[in-house]
Amino acid sequence: MPEGDTIFRAARALHKALAGATVTGFETAYAHLASANDSTPVNGRIIETVEARGKWLLIHFSGDLILVTHMLMSGSWHIYRPGERWKRPRSYMRIILRTAEYEAVAFSVPVAQFHTARSLERNTAIPKLGPDLLKQDFSEDEAKSRIRARADEEIGNVLLDQKVMAGIGNVFKSEICFVCGVHPFRRVSSLSGREIDCLVDSGRRLMNANVTDTSGDQTVTYTGFRRTTRRSDPAARVWVYRRKGEQCRRCGTVIEMRRQGPGARSSYWCPQCQPIAAQHR
Ligand SMILES: [Zn+2]
Repeated sequence: MPEGDTIFRAARALHKALAGATVTGFETAYAHLASANDSTPVNGRIIETVEARGKWLLIHFSGDLILVTHMLMSGSWHIYRPGERWKRPRSYMRIILRTAEYEAVAFSVPVAQFHTARSLERNTAIPKLGPDLLKQDFSEDEAKSRIRARADEEIGNVLLDQKVMAGIGNVFKSEICFVCGVHPFRRVSSLSGREIDCLVDSGRRLMNANVTDTSGDQTVTYTGFRRTTRRSDPAARVWVYRRKGEQCRRCGTVIEMRRQGPGARSSYWCPQCQPIAAQHR
C-alpha cells in the first residue's frame, strides 16, 4: 500500500522527469478522461509541476488543467524511457503521459480526474494547500495554527509541507530556522510561541524580499539572501544553506548538515546558534 512517503517520492521523481516538458502523447483506459481529453486536449501542454497531497498525486499542466490521481491500495506511477519494457501488464494501464524523453504510466489508479484550479478548490476530498506566503491575504494566524497542529513532527519537515504554508522550499527552510535560532530537527511541540511567530514572520519576510525577479529559483534566492545576511558580497548571501563544514557567520561554529524527512532533504544548521534543546527565551 502506498504510504504518504511513497507518494511524495513518486511525485518528486515525476516532477524531475516531466516538469518543463511538453506533452507529446496522452492515452487513457478511462472513458471519462478520454472524453475530457477530446474536448480539452492534454497534448501540447507544458507539465508545470507534480505534487503530492496526502494520498493524491497532482500533475499541473499549462492552461489551467490538473490531472489528479488517487493512489489508494494498488495505484502506482512508473517512469519509462520510450520503448522500455513496462514492469506491469498492459491491462493495468490507466493513463500514459508522453514527453519527448519519457513515458509516465499510471497503473491501477482507482480514481483519476481532471480539474481546473477552481474545481480543485471546490473538491473537499483533496487536501488544500496552506496559506500562500506570497499572497496579500496570507493569514499568519492560520499558518501558526497549522504548524501547531503538527506537534509531533520535526519543524524542518513541517516548514516544507505545502499544506501548512505554501511557498517555502528547501533553501529557505534552513535559512528561516537559522534566523529564528531553531534547530530544524526540533519537534513542533518543543517550540515556544515566540519561535513559531518568528518562523512565520521570517518566512513571509524572506519570501517576499525575494520576489523581485521571476527568472528562476536561483536568481530569486540570490537577490533576497544578500539582503537577509545584510551583505552585498554574493558569496555571503546565505547563512547556512550548503555551508556544511564552513563557519557560522555569527559565531564561527562549524555548520552541520543532515538529511531529513520523507524526501531526505538536506537540512543545515549551526549547533551553537540553533541548539537541539528548546531555548527558553
Ligand atoms: Zn552560529
